[in-house]
Amino acid sequence: MENISRTKIVDLLKRTDFGAMVNVKGWVRTRRGSKQVNFVALNDGSTINNVQIVVDVANFDEEMLKLITTGACLSVNGELVESVGSGQAAEIQAREIEVLGTCDNTYPLQKKGHSMEFLREIAHLRPRTNTFGAVYRIRHNMAMAIHNFFHQKGFFYFNAPIITASDCEGAGQMFQVTTMNLYDLKKDENGSIIYDDDFFGKQASLTVSGQLEGELAATALGAIYTFGPTFRAENSNTPRHLAEFWMVEPEVAFADLAELMNLEEEFIKFCVNWALEHCKDDLEFLNKMVDKGLIERLQSVVKADFVRLPYTEGIKILEEAIAKGRKFEFPVYWGCDLASEHERFLVEEHFQKPVIMTDYPKEIKAFYMKQNEDGKTVQGTDVLFPQIGEIIGGSVREESYDKLMTRIKELDIPMKDMWWYLDTRKYGTCPHAGFGLGFERLLLFVTGMTNIRDVIPFPRTPRNAEF
Ligand code: ATP
Ligand code: MN
Repeated sequence: MENISRTKIVDLLKRTDFGAMVNVKGWVRTRRGSKQVNFVALNDGSTINNVQIVVDVANFDEEMLKLITTGACLSVNGELVESVGSGQAAEIQAREIEVLGTCDNTYPLQKKGHSMEFLREIAHLRPRTNTFGAVYRIRHNMAMAIHNFFHQKGFFYFNAPIITASDCEGAGQMFQVTTMNLYDLKKDENGSIIYDDDFFGKQASLTVSGQLEGELAATALGAIYTFGPTFRAENSNTPRHLAEFWMVEPEVAFADLAELMNLEEEFIKFCVNWALEHCKDDLEFLNKMVDKGLIERLQSVVKADFVRLPYTEGIKILEEAIAKGRKFEFPVYWGCDLASEHERFLVEEHFQKPVIMTDYPKEIKAFYMKQNEDGKTVQGTDVLFPQIGEIIGGSVREESYDKLMTRIKELDIPMKDMWWYLDTRKYGTCPHAGFGLGFERLLLFVTGMTNIRDVIPFPRTPRNAEF
């Protein structure tokens, strides 16, 4: 075959220099046609769009043509021609075809229209479908949006450790990391495991959040963000929870509650807008095939002013709705942790806009949140989104050493390994605030997919770590 340098299909479809000799490589999506001429739709992953290869049967070897089946990998040399029927501006009149990889009829992606459940069982092949190709390209673009947003605002990308020995927040939901022989554990006279000989000389786990380390960094670099995998061994089999997920956690020195909420709103709008600008073809595909209201919903969020709603007022609204006959599965009262049905009622029915809920009862929020004067509430914020519920959890952090210690003692939080965190409050403490956004929750919103297992390449959930 003549050696012509490869053009990615995304670039090729924009070209208008008809008559040029080009090379494309990719995988066959479909092949149709007559005895005289065949049309092969080829996709190389660079875009959702296929390029149409026109094959004049008489010019090619019959045995080779038999190998052009759905899923096969081809290299094609041909002439770039203006297209009349393929739905694209350009197509390729094939001159030479090499089958790089054959694909027999055991290939599970022969036909279109597989269920999401079935595709999860072939997670190693599902990136080759239109839907998952679109989702993973959008996932990449959202990661770029995140780095761009923070970089442009002067935040530094800071890496928190994945293995940690601090378990203050995630008691009970952490995955333990050990090199000990689990069949032969050394125990003391009380039956407690002795960790002296373990790899780190103490109990260690996978992180549930990079926040505490992020706070250290913010009190030195001013404004930082972490963006990495986090792990929660929570046994919640829901469409919105993963055992391994990615979290974006900015932390800002000198920010107060209003600045925190502004940052949350600006950040999400930036990301959604980025998707609208950079992922047009993929969003149009998802809008057509997965969720007809998707693009409109994305546009409306970019335009909306997020509602800022104190928890106490939110409870009142819910109680009024119940008084008028609205039914919920879980009870509503001041002090309750809102369920997803309550959050979605506020966002989707009552306000029909994203809601930033603030000033939660301290009992249902973490120890590090800044306490309000009322002694009852803390400056925590949850950003609640249509379809998703909670997409961000954030707060102003308690900067007073004494108040923080009092809370730690009240809650009996094991802080013996956390002396380093308390040092931030001992040495030049400062007001600061930050939040955590679940990357996959953002992707659920941006793609219109309904199950979080379908926006991460290899989902980790209870009893599932295949692939
Ligand atoms: P939820 O109530 O939905 O379980 P959370 O209150 O436990 O959330 P935080 O600890 O505040 O969540 O974590 C910050 C963000 O991380 C959440 O707003 C959410 O977007 C995301 N998140 C939390 N747990 C998970 C999970 N198991 N899988 C995916 N994303 C998650
Ligand atoms: Mn949770």
